[in-house]
Amino acid sequence: SVVTRFAPSPTGYLHVGGARTALYSWLYAKSQGGKFVLRIEDTDLERSTDAAKQAIIDGMTWLGLEHDQGPFYQTQRFDRYNHFIDVLLDNGLAYKCFMTVEELDAIREEQEKNGEKPRYPGTWRDRTDHPSDQPYVIRFKNPKDGYVVFTDHVRGEIRIANEELDDLIIRRTDGAPTYNFCVVIDDWEMGITHVVRGEDHINNTPRQINILKALGAPIPEYAHVSMILGDDGKKLSKRHGAVSVMQYRDDGYLPQAVLNYLVRLGWSHGDQEVFSVDEMIALFSLDNISKSASAFNTEKLIWLNQHYIKTLPSEDVAEHARWHFDQQGIDISGGPELSKVIEVQAERVATLKELADISCYFYQDFETFDANAAKKHLRPVIKENLVAVGNKLADLSEWTAKNIQQAINQTAEELGVGMGKVGMPLRVAVTGAGNSPSLDVTLVLIEQSKVVERINKAIE
Ligand code: GLU
Repeated sequence: SVVTRFAPSPTGYLHVGGARTALYSWLYAKSQGGKFVLRIEDTDLERSTDAAKQAIIDGMTWLGLEHDQGPFYQTQRFDRYNHFIDVLLDNGLAYKCFMTVEELDAIREEQEKNGEKPRYPGTWRDRTDHPSDQPYVIRFKNPKDGYVVFTDHVRGEIRIANEELDDLIIRRTDGAPTYNFCVVIDDWEMGITHVVRGEDHINNTPRQINILKALGAPIPEYAHVSMILGDDGKKLSKRHGAVSVMQYRDDGYLPQAVLNYLVRLGWSHGDQEVFSVDEMIALFSLDNISKSASAFNTEKLIWLNQHYIKTLPSEDVAEHARWHFDQQGIDISGGPELSKVIEVQAERVATLKELADISCYFYQDFETFDANAAKKHLRPVIKENLVAVGNKLADLSEWTAKNIQQAINQTAEELGVGMGKVGMPLRVAVTGAGNSPSLDVTLVLIEQSKVVERINKAIE
């Protein structure tokens, strides 16, 4: 059955491109009832950090791209790589190369002078006169003739002549196995059937296939996905705003929106834009991935975020929104259910950060009123309306939206003024500003005594 993997190098945060690759790989596994492996490719000891490993795992967890196996760490698997290097050596499929760096440089220079592509000419491939005390690397004996042919799910048939590939170093002089070799052994031993990765790796694929063949291992299928560009058509970078997945969390996006956004960035199903994760799993196919680079479009992401804030069950939104209240130092424990606040605010925000920004008054008193709103609606001549509605609200024996609305209506009627002349001062008094959802549904979420207290404070 199908096994896919995501194999990031832990040299930084989980970025948008990596997350999309991970999503496609995860979706394919799920769509086939298969398994998804997380493998951390941490052999570059200088560039790999523990913080980056954690950041990748955090990003994957936040997106909900749970792995079925792993995380595996390449640094813990050196004995496996070395074992297979020995197997290749024993079978004459790899060899020791004693060429010095100086010799290799001289050959390269000569090749460049002649306009040739620099390549190792196979000098030690068949030599047996091995010096006894000289450092050496181990090279894989790449076949000399024929072609490597594979059908990429995104790019179609790819055919590379073996004569274009030189004998790859698989173990360095310091004994460390090299990157391409580790990938091959891992993909094989982890039973990977489908390799989904960035197109920047497509040149490695023929070399990896040759090593797999030499080991008698099955060849997985491949899908190399295109780059993501910024909205200006240039390679996506920090200039374009957030590129780290966790930055999107910090900015107030829901993982559902980010996933939906990412799946459409280079994959389509008709002209459908909105996909739940279940729909993605049902509809995803490697063969509908686009060959051309995809351009990032922040407006679409915002639109999707808004859509999900409005349409997901408010309890699900609350689960992610809670963190933003925490971040802003708003203690929500003594106030209304966050999901209830979300129900009344959902229409008014594009991000969860904005939600926390505009929902403080449900949970804490404020020190100052919005200056313009106060100037307009808390003028001395209007304050008596506030006194009147405040008395009615204080007298309510049952604190319901219906009763609150009735109190406001009756006050306006008795005073012979428009509803706004009662509602607006009340709104400013209780929320601190001139914008809020409808007063009945807003006030009912705040305790009656709190509302009365705020009205009294505004009247002072
Ligand atoms: N570790 C590689 C990267 O982060 C991915 C290798 C692969 O998917 O084969 O770019």
